[in-house]
Amino acid sequence: MSTAITSPVIQSEPVVHKARLWLPERVLFTPAALEEPWGQQILARVQSLNLPVEELSRNRVTGLRGETERETYDIAKRTLAVVTAPPSQFKLSPIPPSADWQFHLAEGCPAHCQYCYLAGSLQGPPVIRVFANLPQILDNLAAYEHPGETTTFEVSCYTDPLGIEHLTGSLAECIRYFGTRPDAHLRWVSKFNGVDELLDLPHNGHTRCRMSVNAAPISGRFEGGTASVTSRLQALRQLALPHSQGGGGYPVGLVIAPIMPIEDWQTHYSRLFDSISSSLDFDCDLTFELISHRFTPGSKEILTSWYPQSKLDMDESTRSVKRNKFGGLKYVYDSGTMKSLRHFFEQELTKRFPQAKILYWT
Ligand code: SF4
Repeated sequence: MSTAITSPVIQSEPVVHKARLWLPERVLFTPAALEEPWGQQILARVQSLNLPVEELSRNRVTGLRGETERETYDIAKRTLAVVTAPPSQFKLSPIPPSADWQFHLAEGCPAHCQYCYLAGSLQGPPVIRVFANLPQILDNLAAYEHPGETTTFEVSCYTDPLGIEHLTGSLAECIRYFGTRPDAHLRWVSKFNGVDELLDLPHNGHTRCRMSVNAAPISGRFEGGTASVTSRLQALRQLALPHSQGGGGYPVGLVIAPIMPIEDWQTHYSRLFDSISSSLDFDCDLTFELISHRFTPGSKEILTSWYPQSKLDMDESTRSVKRNKFGGLKYVYDSGTMKSLRHFFEQELTKRFPQAKILYWT
């Protein structure tokens, strides 16, 4: 029943590499972004890294298209644009099952995952746009809190906030803000590992830091430009360790995604669980989120133009179709495959991490 892709040769030692700090080749500022104090703070960071800065004459980012989609991708992924979030960003959308609401400190990501969730979600060239009016974006959130109960906000739907943190400082600012809100919690997820600047922040237990991880053949083959899973787990350990042991004392989580029934998937995912256990070998507030691989006709078309050589399995004939209430469709694994994956994940994780909570399977 399973849709298998062939695994590459398995290394016996785990791969450990930190993500290289992303240094864009071009940094564009709109005039409006330069008027914002937070934009000036980003400018100072960018200048301290000796990156070339261009001030645009208008508040629009244009001229990033190449001859082909792949060329456009290459240009855009090397470009940071500092802009102000448009008014539409101040009307929040729900984001079940991850959180009550999503908000954005940036759109676009410097990594190169061949299954990227952003393909088809964001329009235009995949330039990394960061928002210079972050204080206003944060001020807007209080109106969305549900009085008397904890409201959760997800900040990593359209970017990897840790992957650009050295250029923005915006994730730290969000964590500080949520530390002051009695009834609001922040959630973020990453495939990067540079967490040192986050460890001493006054988060007040209101931020859950998660790392997105996967089995070695999947992360090794499909997740370009990210930190290795081993480095991500080391970073998560640092975030979760209590302050008394030099850690951040944060609630933490693992997002295992996108789950794929590759050849020998039980063995590969069991190895991943072993690595998680040895990284988090102390009591901590831990959650799991489990997301199986899916794609849409639109995301497949974009991903194929970005990664024409990719071996990612997106064969519609082996998948089931799932429709949403607006008529859109996505391709998921058939119900037998889904059942056996889900059963395995839930059983193994419950056995190994009895204190942890599995938030959802999808
Ligand atoms: S880290 Fe996430 S957002 Fe960035 S390229 Fe990979 S899947 Fe896309």
